[in-house]
Amino acid sequence: MMKPAIVERILRVMRNREQIRNIGVIAHIDHGKTTLTDLLLAEAGLIPYNLAGEARVLDYLEEERRRGITIKAANISLLHEVNGKEYVVNLIDTPGHVDFTGRVTRALRIVDGAIAIVDAVEEIMAQTEVVTRQALNELVKPVLFINKIDRLINELKLTVEEIQTKILRIIRDFNNIIELYCELPFKNKWKVSLSKENIILGSALHKWGLTIETARRKGIRFSDIIEEYKRGNLQNLQEVIPLHKTLLEIIVRELPNPIEAQKYRIPKIWRGNLNSEIGRAMLECDPNGPTSICVTNVKRESRDGLIATGRIFSGRIKDGDQVYLMGAKRDSVIRQVSIYMGSFREHVRQLDSGNIVALSGLETINAGETIINTMHKEYMTPFEEITYISKPVITVSVEPKDPRDLTRLINVLNLLSIEDPNLMVMINRETGEYLLSGIGELHLDIAIKTIKEYEDNLEIIVSKPIVSYRESVAKSGATVTAKSPNGLNRIVVKVEPAKRSLSKMIEKKRNEELIKNAERILNMDENENILVDLAGKELIYEDLESIINGFKWACRSGPLCGEPLMRVRVNLIDVHLSDKPEQKGQAQIMPAVRRAIFGSFLTANPILLEPIYSIQISAPTEQMGNIINLVTKRRGKISSIIQKGFISIIDGFMPVAESLGLADEIRSASSGRAFWQSVFSHWEEIPEDHLFKIIYFIRLRKGLPVEVPEAEIFID
Ligand code: GDP
Repeated sequence: MMKPAIVERILRVMRNREQIRNIGVIAHIDHGKTTLTDLLLAEAGLIPYNLAGEARVLDYLEEERRRGITIKAANISLLHEVNGKEYVVNLIDTPGHVDFTGRVTRALRIVDGAIAIVDAVEEIMAQTEVVTRQALNELVKPVLFINKIDRLINELKLTVEEIQTKILRIIRDFNNIIELYCELPFKNKWKVSLSKENIILGSALHKWGLTIETARRKGIRFSDIIEEYKRGNLQNLQEVIPLHKTLLEIIVRELPNPIEAQKYRIPKIWRGNLNSEIGRAMLECDPNGPTSICVTNVKRESRDGLIATGRIFSGRIKDGDQVYLMGAKRDSVIRQVSIYMGSFREHVRQLDSGNIVALSGLETINAGETIINTMHKEYMTPFEEITYISKPVITVSVEPKDPRDLTRLINVLNLLSIEDPNLMVMINRETGEYLLSGIGELHLDIAIKTIKEYEDNLEIIVSKPIVSYRESVAKSGATVTAKSPNGLNRIVVKVEPAKRSLSKMIEKKRNEELIKNAERILNMDENENILVDLAGKELIYEDLESIINGFKWACRSGPLCGEPLMRVRVNLIDVHLSDKPEQKGQAQIMPAVRRAIFGSFLTANPILLEPIYSIQISAPTEQMGNIINLVTKRRGKISSIIQKGFISIIDGFMPVAESLGLADEIRSASSGRAFWQSVFSHWEEIPEDHLFKIIYFIRLRKGLPVEVPEAEIFID
């Protein structure tokens, strides 16, 4: 498919770091990312020109084709000549659907620049803001492509002035995002403006695009473009102002090469010593320094096993190199070094810093892993963890139809959670179920499809989606004493609501490694539960460990309905332990701690928190009535409705539990013309009139006695 001669040329250019651009395309769903990427592929000769937009090469999953959305990211290296000099543009494709923002976040780690596409009709949407913010957070510089200008002309029949107003509004809103989320030294430099040449106007579908400068150079006015549309003379536009040329020129000129970018990006994504040998090599993107790679994607391929994709920040990597995986704490050997050509890989044997690489031979590796050459493993600090904005709040249970297939199912579930760190696999010990949690219904649907794709004829039973809840307290509980099973140890605790500001402060302090044992905060978890020691007794390490483990056990699954605790502060008031080691230990202390916590918890006005999505729906204005009905029927709250031409956009919130199945309902209520996006926003207390019903159904589902236990049964 790809001529080796081209690969050779690409590789030659890849050695000159000034001639590399690593970029991603980011957009709200449906704003034209796939159409644009396909156009670039067609221009590179990778797919026939007339198939661009239809072939959707980067959307290689059948599922993506069916649903018309991009899910999995694929990558490609494009060769492009500007002013007689060749450049390689490594283009990382990213999914547009919010359920896959995790993949976007990871892809952004390895690029330095981004083309942000905005549909001229819909203008800036929720996901535009989310992905642009993610890009800015990784110090990825954006340029703006305002797409679908043809629709303003053909469908909306706007005048030049009206088009201008729309474009200026998009630019203003885009710059507001930069103003809000970009760090200071870059804030003003990165704002877009027509005069700065970092905005392209065009139509990916009709393959034309221009900047103010190209328009000036070629003597084109906007009214000329409208005129060409009237005459149906698209060919002319494509020849005079071809989109791919304009775009690649802007990429080469406006977006940084790896040497420029790593100078400011390394201090942001790596907290090691910048003056060390590795630090300096990464700041300079030095191919002769120690090899360091940040892996952002892992995928199993049937022939070559796990393929890890990442960015070489310093040094070079070759077939057969000995490397060390910092997260897994393991030595490994690279089998093959390759680069991406769409869904295909080209084995290239060796690659230098500044490039994006695909590596095989690493038997187990997670996305987010830091690879360093073995010689330097003592001196390396791992890359900063990638922070995700979405949480896995929807769960399905999966089990094999034939119990003998259990091992196969476990293996494939493990593989899925390696490939996609936003999927969580858990075992429900009470029911023996395997639970798969994702950030939305679509996310889970695709995961289930992938199980079937990976394990032919593995038949599985999948439950309906269930929502995760959190148990918490609304006021302080009683001081409660509980005994260990042998009655020889006593634990006294008092539970109260954890103040969020306190937990944030502690988290910050912990980052600065200021938390010492002396401050007596014994433990804190990701659900903002805190264990505070007020007893002030000298305890040996093993006993302290057992108390903390008892706290963690209680936090994992609460007394209301077995959901995790959240924002609960547990004060350890007193501890009476036996003097004899054989009379205490984990098996005695842990249950006592848990019992005491449950006892106090149940007297503290227990509540249930549910996850809330922030939602955005765009639909033709005439269908708004239907859509608003659907939203309010499902306990949704509308915060704004904005009209943009013939479409309207609703922003608001909705409990995740009420959102199940909404996508289909909205689609059919609007004959497929409305789109809905949802992203986890926050946890909120369940209104009292729903509380008991929900607890009842969760307990029923989990096979627990339907009555919530009384506090007394935990108190001794
Ligand atoms: P993605 O979800 O961002 O990948 O969006 P797609 O590339 O799949 O585009 C979504 C829809 O918009 C498709 O039906 C495209 O044909 C259409 N589209 C993309 N670019 C343009 C454009 O410039 N003009 C018009 N009229 N339609 C476009």
